[in-house]
Amino acid sequence: MENINDLKTLLSIPKDIVITTHRNPDGDAIGSSLGLYHFLNKFGHTVKIITPSEYPAFLAFLSDTDKIVIYDEEPEYSKNLVEKAEIIFCLDFNSLERIDKLGELIEPTNSHKVMIDHHLYPDNFANFMMSDTTASSTCEMIYTFICNLDQKKELDITIGECLYTGILTDTGSFKYATSARLFRIVGDLIELGVDDYRIQDLVFNSMEEKHLRLLGHVLNNRMEIINEYHTGIITLTKQDYEDFDIKRGDTEGLVNYILKLKKIKVAAFIHEQPTITKISLRSKGDFSVQVIASKYFRGGGHKNASGGYSYIGLRPTVRKFISVLPEFMGELKKSEI
Ligand code: 5GP
Ligand code: MN
Repeated sequence: MENINDLKTLLSIPKDIVITTHRNPDGDAIGSSLGLYHFLNKFGHTVKIITPSEYPAFLAFLSDTDKIVIYDEEPEYSKNLVEKAEIIFCLDFNSLERIDKLGELIEPTNSHKVMIDHHLYPDNFANFMMSDTTASSTCEMIYTFICNLDQKKELDITIGECLYTGILTDTGSFKYATSARLFRIVGDLIELGVDDYRIQDLVFNSMEEKHLRLLGHVLNNRMEIINEYHTGIITLTKQDYEDFDIKRGDTEGLVNYILKLKKIKVAAFIHEQPTITKISLRSKGDFSVQVIASKYFRGGGHKNASGGYSYIGLRPTVRKFISVLPEFMGELKKSEI
């Protein structure tokens, strides 16, 4: 295992670097990748970001999103970049399985692999590993990583905007996994000149009409409340995706509306994708949905935000989810809200 000094030495000479992050990248995945990208570019490295799949449109305002290579769209080019890379940064995920075919390409290479991530139970695939499950976001960790390289002076407004965006989205607007440390970091980013009001506006007030109509539709027609289990479920069928002309990223945040109900402790968003049924889980307080995601839905994540998938259809997945809830009733009853 390498330490930070080995990395400093490695980064002291310009290198071919690839930064990659998880499928369906969110604000933290894109913010941390671009933040690190802008930082590394200052040292003459050749840096490319590869995401397994497309990023959501609301993040396009971040500097250089147009340079991101999307594996699904350019598999051959991505393969060449991975094979050429001397260092590969893996951000906001902790197991190569999470990035599908891209992971299979990365695994056998002789590159130096650096993992920076805040999810539970990391795999041991990297030469340098920074794993902190108490961190709010990978963006918070990139800030710390840059400081650990003794390069805090290199932080600028462009990097700051990227990191602020990921912190904002992963903490659900400074609600989850915050700490005094995080607020100090955010204070530093504001001091760099980051306009927090502008970024909040770009991130949260950028909906198209169809997105708001979809929200109305799901709350009215697709929400099931199971009072007995303090659980709410929102489902979306393939037909809904067609009727509302929406894509995967357009459903970001829907699941959180269920948590607005006072008596609800667990929220699930279950939706049909082309080949799988995806499940997103959220919880309040002490109750961990990570256990449900990893034990029953091939997934994982954090205590209060996890996800997974199944190969059975939408209704069977809903039924399976409801059928496993009694196992967690004890924990559910105990947990405070
Ligand atoms: P979301 O519900 O927003 O897709 O994901 C919430 C959290 O669960 C994320 O932090 C993500 O890493 C984790 N997660 C979502 N889907 C999966 C999955 O299929 N496998 C694993 N291991 N984690 C997932
Ligand atoms: Mn994250």
